[in-house]
Amino acid sequence: MNDVTAREKPKPAKIAADTLPRFASVQELIEKTKPVLPVYCLFPEKFADAARRFQDFPGDTLYAVKANPAPHVLDQVYAAGIRHFDTASLAEIALVRRRYPDAQCHFMAPVRIAGAAQTAFHRHGVTDYVVDCDFELDKLLAETGGAKDLRIFVRISTPLGGALLELSSKFGTTPADAARLLKRITEAGATPGITFHVGSQCLSPFSYAQAIEMARRTADIAGIGIAALDIGGGFPGPYHNNDVPPYHWYFDTIREALATLPGKPKLMCEPGRALIAEGVSLVTQVILRKDDKLYLNDGIYGSFDELTLPGWTADYPLRVFSPDGDGRAVLQPAGHTPFRVYGPTCDTLDVLPKPLMLPETIKAGDYIVVDAIGAYSVALRTNFNGFFPDEWAIVGN
Ligand SMILES: *Cc1c(COP(=O)(O)O)cnc(C)c1O
Repeated sequence: MNDVTAREKPKPAKIAADTLPRFASVQELIEKTKPVLPVYCLFPEKFADAARRFQDFPGDTLYAVKANPAPHVLDQVYAAGIRHFDTASLAEIALVRRRYPDAQCHFMAPVRIAGAAQTAFHRHGVTDYVVDCDFELDKLLAETGGAKDLRIFVRISTPLGGALLELSSKFGTTPADAARLLKRITEAGATPGITFHVGSQCLSPFSYAQAIEMARRTADIAGIGIAALDIGGGFPGPYHNNDVPPYHWYFDTIREALATLPGKPKLMCEPGRALIAEGVSLVTQVILRKDDKLYLNDGIYGSFDELTLPGWTADYPLRVFSPDGDGRAVLQPAGHTPFRVYGPTCDTLDVLPKPLMLPETIKAGDYIVVDAIGAYSVALRTNFNGFFPDEWAIVGN
């Protein structure tokens, strides 16, 4: 999986995660450190499991850095064997290049800041790019000097399907227009590819089959073979209140659809969420309870932003621990009482959009452990009002 394709043979990176405090369990962390600030717990085994799932994908697996760019998380993804990174900005590319000399970056954003491709190509040796219109293709060819060793993917927009968060209204074009761009790319001497993103937290494996069929039709209209196909991200995280199909349904459906493509395109996928969601849990403390209102040390300006996105319906799995008089943190039975949950800032908007179901006995000083919160949490936190969750620990082996 994820074979290293760098031209020279750079040394593997050293992982600095050893410097983080380590605990056998979240419970032990709470008992030993009684944290008053939010703590992100990393589970190396869960990162390894997530990466292992993608061994069933018949191509390269790129980690989409935007889902969680924290260096501690990138280290876990790297340690799990991932060597390809889907990057969307120069800052992401520089971060990955600096930290993992033997990894490869792919610049898979269809709209780039002026000059970004120039620096990515000439300074960082990035050769994979995406476009969805003539303007970006002209800019890319100009900035890279019309380099012949480029691989340029055209992004097609796929129908609204089974994803909670759509990514096709902002980017992508029709098969007919994409076919025209593919011909231009071929004429420019670069290698043509097709890419799409079915949307994030995609609960329907069929969405990938439908998108692959659109890619086939696009290549057919263009009358050229597809050298590369990148099926994007969108693979779901294991949240509650969301019926996530078994993972092998995705790979079986994708494999079946790929078999209908002429030729043998080089394949890639770009999971963000699926590689990191389960690997991170958040330990957050109740600061104050007023009747059915709870005030936490973290909120929507910190780790909980994704809950506020239109269309988001999933819930993070929760566990509540109450410290007792003997220094133990006692796991509470699942709660069924709705609480309105506020974050620590002075802003009225800093409230979770849905009540959380928690034990009736919950009180100030208790801990809520939020599982599977690796995706679009850390990545979207702000330091509004001076609150910036940034404590880390390793839990498990
Ligand atoms: C956001 C994004 C991804 C990752 O999406 P997930 O839903 O987190 O898997 C992959 N590719 C592109 C181009 C993206 O914009």
